[in-house]
Amino acid sequence: MEEQKKKILIVEDEKTIAEILLYNIKAAGYDAETRFDGKSGLEEALTGKYDLILLDLMLPLMDGFEVCEKVRERLDTPIIMLTARDTEQDKIRGLDTGADDYMTKPFSINELLSRVRANIRRYSNETVMRKIADSTIVISDIVIDCENYLVKKGDKILELSKKEYDLLAYFAKNAGKVYTREELMSAVWGYENFYGDLRTIDVTIARLRQKIDEPGTEESIIQTKRGLGYFIAAKND
Ligand code: CA
Repeated sequence: MEEQKKKILIVEDEKTIAEILLYNIKAAGYDAETRFDGKSGLEEALTGKYDLILLDLMLPLMDGFEVCEKVRERLDTPIIMLTARDTEQDKIRGLDTGADDYMTKPFSINELLSRVRANIRRYSNETVMRKIADSTIVISDIVIDCENYLVKKGDKILELSKKEYDLLAYFAKNAGKVYTREELMSAVWGYENFYGDLRTIDVTIARLRQKIDEPGTEESIIQTKRGLGYFIAAKND
């Protein structure tokens, strides 16, 4: 039996770009559908039949940020945002609303396809991991409930973006080990180290620290090993 093709949803209002994407994605062996505005894109995404969503930022009827946020309330399908604006704020906001990554137009189709592959691979690995995950990890006053994707600090449930959660859980499961940004890019984002913007890691860690650390504290739960990378100390350290 033929292996079932992975399905990709393209939400893009510029018809020419949508067509180029559709053509190349199908040529790479995926099934794909296009939607040309945010509202119908969201409806289609929420059917839950897609393995990945390519989401333009500026869309009629509903913008990409809102679509992303609404998808995330229900699904954790990988989302790559396509943006014409190369501003740090858009990237941060995109990642904050739960996008897994962004690409700035114009981008190379080869790089896009390689990111699509990486995200789909990571997502199916995660789905397997989820089934065998240890249910709870405790680090100082932080409790990570891996089964329900919940992080609590004391009695308070923390609002973490998907990537913030993934990073924290990854550090916690491998406490004591120092990871370079390249290693994190590959392990948590699923990219080979020459793809992806390494500043994404610093931004995500900075936001995560704001949420998990005691205000005014000197040493973060996620520690920096200068010149090497980041880690969470093992219990006995
Ligand atoms: Ca657009």
